[in-house]
Amino acid sequence: MRVNSFRWRLTLTYLAIAAVSIAAIGSYLLNWTEKYYTDSVRKQLRADSVLLVRIVSDDMGKGVDPDRLDRLAKTLGRTLNLRITIVNLPGVVLADSDYDPRLMENHRNRPEIRRALAAGFGTSVRASRTLHTTMLYDAAAVPNAIAPRAVVRVAMPLLGLAGLLDRIRNVFLVAMGLTLVLVALISLRVTGQIVAPISEMTAMARRIAGGEFSRRLRVRKGPEDEVFVLMGALNEMAERIEHLVLQLSREKSKVETVLRKTDDGIVVLDDHGQIQSVNPAAEMLFGFAESELVGKSVMEGLLHTELSQLAARTLSSGETGSLDVTVTSPKERLLSAHCAPITGSSDPDARPDGVALTLHDLTELKRISRVRRDFVANVSHELRTPLSTLRAMAETVALRFEDNTEAAAEFSTKIVGEVQRLTAIVDELLELAEIEEGKRGLNTRRIRVVELVERAVNACAADAARKQIGLDVSVDEDLELEVDPDAICQVVVNLVQNGINYTDTGGKVTISAQKSEGPALISVADTGIGISKADRERIFERFYRVDKARSRETGGTGLGLSIAKHLVELHGGSLSVESEPGKGSVFTISLPR
Ligand code: ADP
Repeated sequence: MRVNSFRWRLTLTYLAIAAVSIAAIGSYLLNWTEKYYTDSVRKQLRADSVLLVRIVSDDMGKGVDPDRLDRLAKTLGRTLNLRITIVNLPGVVLADSDYDPRLMENHRNRPEIRRALAAGFGTSVRASRTLHTTMLYDAAAVPNAIAPRAVVRVAMPLLGLAGLLDRIRNVFLVAMGLTLVLVALISLRVTGQIVAPISEMTAMARRIAGGEFSRRLRVRKGPEDEVFVLMGALNEMAERIEHLVLQLSREKSKVETVLRKTDDGIVVLDDHGQIQSVNPAAEMLFGFAESELVGKSVMEGLLHTELSQLAARTLSSGETGSLDVTVTSPKERLLSAHCAPITGSSDPDARPDGVALTLHDLTELKRISRVRRDFVANVSHELRTPLSTLRAMAETVALRFEDNTEAAAEFSTKIVGEVQRLTAIVDELLELAEIEEGKRGLNTRRIRVVELVERAVNACAADAARKQIGLDVSVDEDLELEVDPDAICQVVVNLVQNGINYTDTGGKVTISAQKSEGPALISVADTGIGISKADRERIFERFYRVDKARSRETGGTGLGLSIAKHLVELHGGSLSVESEPGKGSVFTISLPR
């Protein structure tokens, strides 16, 4: 128990109250006893003095004889068991029951004697110089006709009083000791009952402050006093806090999940414009980890003047702002930046506590809209050329070759050719649309790759032979894959056909696939014209052709690689190209096992 603890202080207070009360009663009782005792002795002595004055007066009436007086004093003293002293007016002791008066000093200045001389009677309590003990003296003047003749003094030691007072004092001291021990015990017990729940509540409050909300106080049965109510209130408070904290942490984790999963970059700044948090999308956009950015300003961290100015404007004005900006590193991107103030207070004019900078990546959107625009232009263009040709030829046939059947037949053949080309384009466009819409399902089954490749080679063999291009196959016999055979065969045919188309006579196209760890790789390599780096990035786009004339000659639509790429991706794989202009190209299909 600490010295300044509540329990200790309460006990000390009780002890002090008990001690002071007992001491007060004790001292009152001692005073009263002393007074009562002295008063009764005094009354007794007064009666004795009155009697003695009579006797001494009678004796003195016979003439003053000190020896006779002394004998009288000694006889009376013995009889009454008192000390009797007779003093004349100048204070000379004439007789004394206990001592030899001739040896005694002058008594004129004793207070009781002075008072008796002045007023007839006088009392005094004091230590006797002669007897060395506290005495009660009572003196009475022996009257004469005009003035007193002498003073008779009786004295009695107050021996019994001291003993009595000591007894009373001792009884009180013992009583006080016992009472204090009892008070201490009772007080410790009672305060213990009060303090124990307070200690429990203190411990609980500490736990709550330390973030532990699940514990509750055991509310004891008993009277519904203040402590009972307080314990209940504390439990209720803990319950509320726990509920609130849980709710808050749920909300927080929801917000965190949204921030973590969203595709938009989000940067939160504090009221000084310093970065507080950065979500993964923003880390990707700027190429910095959150830990590198926290605590820095937008300018220092993101190295972007326009964003820094946008954030500063929102911080100072408290108004939302938007801006399209470009970031160049780690990749060039077009971002739509939106800066909103974060305000905790309900006062609309208060300075914001920070700002949230949201960054939406427009690069892909822009690319898609460009691709769409290009596509519409390409389709119109692709269809327009054969349509005008068709129209011209049909008009020619109708106007000019009424009787020239041979020329008419030749033109008709051309018309059929153009119509076939148009049909091919439309068919391939439809196929592409089907794949993109997810309508093209996959009929997968386990198949040996060599079987697939042979099917493709057979389909292209005639064309290869016509151009005198060698077709080499180097495929592991037992390499098997779980794929849609028609789709993958179509891809391989397309790649081999391209190899033949873009390789000059006498060249070679090699199809290979070997067993290895990781994904299965089927590659089609040619010794053809190759593709420049700029074109390599675009050949998978719809209608993109490096050399339009050459592609047209071979009946190409510019859609083949686009379809091939989509089909491979439907399998969860990828299609890539490596090439060196003038030397040849290698297309590789990578398929997951
Ligand atoms: P196309 O029907 O014109 O062949 P593709 O989509 O199959 O259309 O190919 C797109 C373009 O990629 C072709 O026009 C050609 O310029 C280029 N290309 C494709 N394969 C090869 C190759 N093996 N060698 C060189 N260029 C190629």
